[in-house]
Amino acid sequence: MTDCLFCKIISGKIPAKKVYEDEKAFAFEDINPQAPTHVLIVPKKHVIGIDQATEADAELVGYCQLVAAKIARERKLEHGFRTVYNVGPDAGQTVFHLHLHLLGGRQMHWPPG
Ligand code: 5GP
Ligand code: ZN
Repeated sequence: MTDCLFCKIISGKIPAKKVYEDEKAFAFEDINPQAPTHVLIVPKKHVIGIDQATEADAELVGYCQLVAAKIARERKLEHGFRTVYNVGPDAGQTVFHLHLHLLGGRQMHWPPG
């Protein structure tokens, strides 16, 4: 999608600190980190968000979780980490290309804010 921020990051038109890439997914450092590790994992396919995803996207939705776990292992986040899909305005979603937040490296709070 031409005017999508994360599609532009995936294609290299907008720079980002790449963490991981394969044929299905791309991961990069969040520009405004909320924890010592704050990585965004996105499918290369432009999916708007969980609420717009279909069964055809089920594998990608889960695959991003597996990529997050792989990055967490690489970063030795053995004390724990959190993965979050924000959906819609109440959850604070601001970018409408599906993205999974991987947060770790500090104590997380529950319930989240
Ligand atoms: P959301 O609020 O939609 O769940 O998450 C969007 C995330 O994208 C935010 O955490 C925000 O800091 C991050 N973000 C927004 N613009 C950019 C950018 O240009 N580059 C990077 N690396 N992250 C961005
Ligand atoms: Zn996109």
